[in-house]
Amino acid sequence: NDLITSGAVREDFPILTRQVDGERFVYLDSAATALKPRSVIDAVTRYYTECTANIHRGRHRLSEEASDLYEEARGKVALMVGCASNEVIFTRNTTEGLNLAAACMGLKKDDLVVGFLDAHHSQLLPWMRGGNYQVVRQGPNWKPDLDHYAELLRRKPKAVVVTHCSNVTGGYLPLETISKMAHEAGALVVVDAAQSAAHLRLRFTESNIDFLALSAHKMLGPSGIGCLVGKASLLRDAEAFLVGGGVVDYTTLESFQYRKIPHKFEAGTPAIEAAFGFAAAIDYLDMVGLERIQAHDHELSKAFLDGLKRRPKLRLLGPDVAEARAPIFSLYVDGLEDLSDVSRALSDAHGVMCRNGHLCAQPLVDHYTSGEVLRMSAYLYNTVEEVEYALSALDEVVRVYQR
Ligand code: PMP
Repeated sequence: NDLITSGAVREDFPILTRQVDGERFVYLDSAATALKPRSVIDAVTRYYTECTANIHRGRHRLSEEASDLYEEARGKVALMVGCASNEVIFTRNTTEGLNLAAACMGLKKDDLVVGFLDAHHSQLLPWMRGGNYQVVRQGPNWKPDLDHYAELLRRKPKAVVVTHCSNVTGGYLPLETISKMAHEAGALVVVDAAQSAAHLRLRFTESNIDFLALSAHKMLGPSGIGCLVGKASLLRDAEAFLVGGGVVDYTTLESFQYRKIPHKFEAGTPAIEAAFGFAAAIDYLDMVGLERIQAHDHELSKAFLDGLKRRPKLRLLGPDVAEARAPIFSLYVDGLEDLSDVSRALSDAHGVMCRNGHLCAQPLVDHYTSGEVLRMSAYLYNTVEEVEYALSALDEVVRVYQR
């Protein structure tokens, strides 16, 4: 755990030297978006300082360089996720990826789609709008009721849509079990890996997933780019969602011929500089090692769980086992309704950045609370001491607002 435990990784994140009103700054909002290491910032800048050009359009030197780096980024995503390069479609983010998956499936109003209560709105609304969405009941310990899931599968759904790691509870769903049961029932499996991709090694082909979406900005990369990974056989047969420049080999006024995958899905000029940054983020994660990140996640989660044991008033919405979760901690306090004030006070009086609200997962948050939680989410650059500091700061703020 050298790079992380020695604190060396922190030096790679220029923003960590900043202060808030001349005082300490603690970032605990990585589930919303992660901080960026210098190598990612440099890679984005490189596009502007060295090879500004559109890609896959010109034959001049700068265009070729930019196109090569863009495709290299796709190759890195494929290696990271464990799929073929042509199965990676660049999108703006996870949300666009999941909407694209729904469009690729050609979902009809009465097609049954089975989902889980911890879905983010991006893994809920495209399916609610497109098909007949049914949700699996929650069982004990923040886990879905797999008997109810089996019952829904007997109704032959077209798709099962899963959030691999909840952005509220931090809990991981048993992806392999869910996916195996779905395939036995003839359903396609669509995975929202927006949170899990930053913490776990994904295995798209090995895990027999049909579609998977993620965002670069949650895994140290720039905003404006993410991807939908889809099985080549499904992508080849699907209609493109957007059409325009870059998606056809030729067109007449009467008909056109799509380019091969993935290009048929990438209409218009993409976020080229973001792809450069995405590649640098993957290199950075490889350099540190996802296994080390996970070991550190467990340390951070233990620090939260230990701190919460000593604070019975703070209620945790999520599993209390460090190994079963990412370090994403959603809390609420009975009788304390307005968590916006708490969040603002944590930021302005203590320099702790965290988030409050229903976290774009309203059905889940409403199920367990009176409508709001305060979320502290940590990542590889956070320390156990920061977690302890943030919980002590929260004690002070709660004392003031509970009066
Ligand atoms: N799913 C989950 C689990 C998320 O946490 C998020 C981001 N909060 C999304 C989907 C949507 O990601 P994006 O905003 O990058 O599209």
